[in-house]
Amino acid sequence: MNSRQRQQMEALLRSLPKTEQDRLYREAASVRAQDQKRRRSERKRFEDLDAPRPSGAKRRGDPIREHVLKILAREQAGGDDGGRGGAGDAPETSVGVAVFVGARRCLVRPDASAGDGSCDVECLLTPELAGRQQAGLCVGDRVAYAPAGDERREQNTLTQVLPRRTVLSRRDPRTGEARAIVANVDAVVVVVSVVGPPLHPRLIDRYLIAIEDSWVENASGSHADDPEPAQAIIAVNKTDLLDDLPSAARTAEMAKLDPYRELGVPIVVCSASDGRGMDELRALLVGKTVALVGHSGVGKSSLANALDPRLGADVGTIGDAANRGRHTTTGAQLYRIDHDPAGAAHEPFWVIDTPGIRAFTLESLTPAQLRDSFPELRRLRQGCRFNDCTHAHEPGCAVVAAVESGGLSRARFDAYRRLLEEIEAGPRLPSQRIRPEYEDDPS
Ligand code: GDP
Ligand code: ZN
Repeated sequence: MNSRQRQQMEALLRSLPKTEQDRLYREAASVRAQDQKRRRSERKRFEDLDAPRPSGAKRRGDPIREHVLKILAREQAGGDDGGRGGAGDAPETSVGVAVFVGARRCLVRPDASAGDGSCDVECLLTPELAGRQQAGLCVGDRVAYAPAGDERREQNTLTQVLPRRTVLSRRDPRTGEARAIVANVDAVVVVVSVVGPPLHPRLIDRYLIAIEDSWVENASGSHADDPEPAQAIIAVNKTDLLDDLPSAARTAEMAKLDPYRELGVPIVVCSASDGRGMDELRALLVGKTVALVGHSGVGKSSLANALDPRLGADVGTIGDAANRGRHTTTGAQLYRIDHDPAGAAHEPFWVIDTPGIRAFTLESLTPAQLRDSFPELRRLRQGCRFNDCTHAHEPGCAVVAAVESGGLSRARFDAYRRLLEEIEAGPRLPSQRIRPEYEDDPS
């Protein structure tokens, strides 16, 4: 290892959580013990020959730390052999949920664990999975892993991603491939704020499309349930800031939400700062696994903390500056919440905070897919004269008729038309492209 590598590894080591550092030191101790044994027998051989010691055996200042850095460097390079396993005997596997996904490893919460994170196990990804992890593995995935234990398997190794119920994806703007953000969520809370930044219905429309698209086709047909997308919930945060506005401005801001209310999307008007609406939000989330999505700065983390102030400590330690590098690779992390701020226990729910997902690019979405992503258009479509009606210019369009008779929100119809135009116009300039952004600025 050259000195630059060593510096990098030193920095990485410092940034790791204590449990991970401990694991590395334990491994290093066992490697060093083996090394010393080997060296002793080598030295003995040299002494027997009455020859000078091999120069490589010179001791360094802190040999165990040297081993730690070497192990870390090897793991970072992906050249780890922990997952090789024996070809003949199938390893025993355990099952759990991925609560954090990094470049080459992930944190898995075993099914049997209490859920507070203290039992999370770190698993290596197979090179194959690491290669396609943006589609193949994400937070919320149920996974099987082979626990460390025998000599062949020094580390836990992820062996399989189990079938998903739902997956919230975005499309890679270049390749059009779907990239998984969170899996197996029952609901997605679209967090928007008022005033700072103001409410952007266009963003909500895009999120709703991605949520509508989150159902997973049951290829195996193994269970009869119809696949369903995750439920959409809108949380309007920072409404404390409305208190200072003239009532007309307040009404205008809140009126932007009417189309979504008409659509039947639950809307929670809340404030992480003063706690309003939080009980209502909690009631909607209990028993579910939910993802918080939204523009950066709308208050997703603040909401998570307002739901459970004890999380604050957690978020703080995991997201502190030193650790940030590790956690920005995917940006999503799962928390269990089972107490309200007053300390009263309730049925748990699981929140996946997805810092930095701003919105979803529409690139490679076809007009037909867009149409299908608007539930209200799907419902009305049978009434259109043409089977493949785009509801843009065709005669006998039931959607247009519904807008004119007030049966369909004009705002949502306009949103659909705008998005359709966008898709038909082809790829946009990079500056106009709204896509997830993984922040690295401390907030
Ligand atoms: P995130 O990027 O979506 O996770 O947003 P943060 O939780 O980091 O919040 C961004 C900023 O908005 C912070 O300065 C928060 O203090 C502030 N903020 C969050 N929630 C509220 C709220 O309900 N009211 C007000 N006035 N400010 C809030
Ligand atoms: Zn039509």
